[in-house]
Amino acid sequence: MDRSVRDADVVIVGSGIGGLTAGAYLAAIGKKVIVVERHSVAGGNATVFEHKGYEFDVGVHYVGDCQPGGMFDRLLKPLGIEIEWLELDPDGFDTLVYPDMTFRFPKGVERLRERLLEHFPTEAEGIDGFLDVTQKLNRGLVGGGDFDTLMQYQDQTLGDLFDDLKLSPRLRGVLCAQNGTYTLPPGRVSVILHSVLMMHYVNAGAYYPAGGGQVIADGLKEAIERNGGEVFLQTPVKRIIVDGGRCAASSSSLRRRCASEASPTRSTRRS
Ligand SMILES: Cc1cc2nc3c(=O)[nH]c(=O)nc-3n(C[C@H](O)[C@H](O)[C@H](O)COP(=O)(O)OP(=O)(O)OC[C@H]3O[C@@H](n4cnc5c(N)ncnc54)[C@H](O)[C@@H]3O)c2cc1C
Repeated sequence: MDRSVRDADVVIVGSGIGGLTAGAYLAAIGKKVIVVERHSVAGGNATVFEHKGYEFDVGVHYVGDCQPGGMFDRLLKPLGIEIEWLELDPDGFDTLVYPDMTFRFPKGVERLRERLLEHFPTEAEGIDGFLDVTQKLNRGLVGGGDFDTLMQYQDQTLGDLFDDLKLSPRLRGVLCAQNGTYTLPPGRVSVILHSVLMMHYVNAGAYYPAGGGQVIADGLKEAIERNGGEVFLQTPVKRIIVDGGRCAASSSSLRRRCASEASPTRSTRRS
């Protein structure tokens, strides 16, 4: 086995944004990190591929909390990663088109409230109730406050909240605008997850990284390599060998690849 693999402190299976972020932070604090990825490009669902001269982003469509001082800023800057974030139209980062109505989902809770009232003037109470609960849940989870509301809603679905507030079917549809990101109907998604997801766009806007999701993955991969770690591409892990409760080695293909000292192809895509 290649020495670098034998001496690794941490072997991460999969170079999705999750694995790369963990790897980049572990490498930054001095751990010897190896990431193994079965695909030929690092990034998982945040990769970009080309087809017939066009670039396609596999997953990333919009990301929230990217403003200066936001979550992405706080996460990526300490690793030396600078992303140019392009804000989607704050007056309508999602547009819902019905045969007889178009609803543009705006940034800003008060602007959202006004727009909802314009389209659903008879449902003011339900709209206020929905925005009140979703804001409290968002603050409870990411703002470190309102623990009681989190506990109260911990087992409830978004559909339960809609039922409690007696919202009309069309208003429910509008308030589900972002459910394409997790692809579950209201009756099967936690109201906490939906609140945090929706409010992170509503409170701070929706953004797209210039160059696509790949620039985030590439930045993290480079941060790992800068700090002495390695990312092995085209290296599927088939088996994790556990010896005495500890991981002793992972997969014959990792051993084979490392033994052949294959150098991973780099993928850098920036606009
Ligand atoms: C269609 C779509 C649209 C999306 N839109 C958005 C959006 O607009 N905004 C947003 O914030 N998020 C969006 N997401 C979600 C976001 O892309 C994902 O949450 C995120 O990329 C997941 O990262 P991850 O590290 O958890 O896993 P993944 O990206 O799934 O990465 C897992 C990696 O592990 C590798 N792997 C798995 N098994 C093995 C193995 N045995 N050996 C070696 N490698 C292995 C895989 O090849 C993959 O590269 C979208 C996702 C999809 C699919």
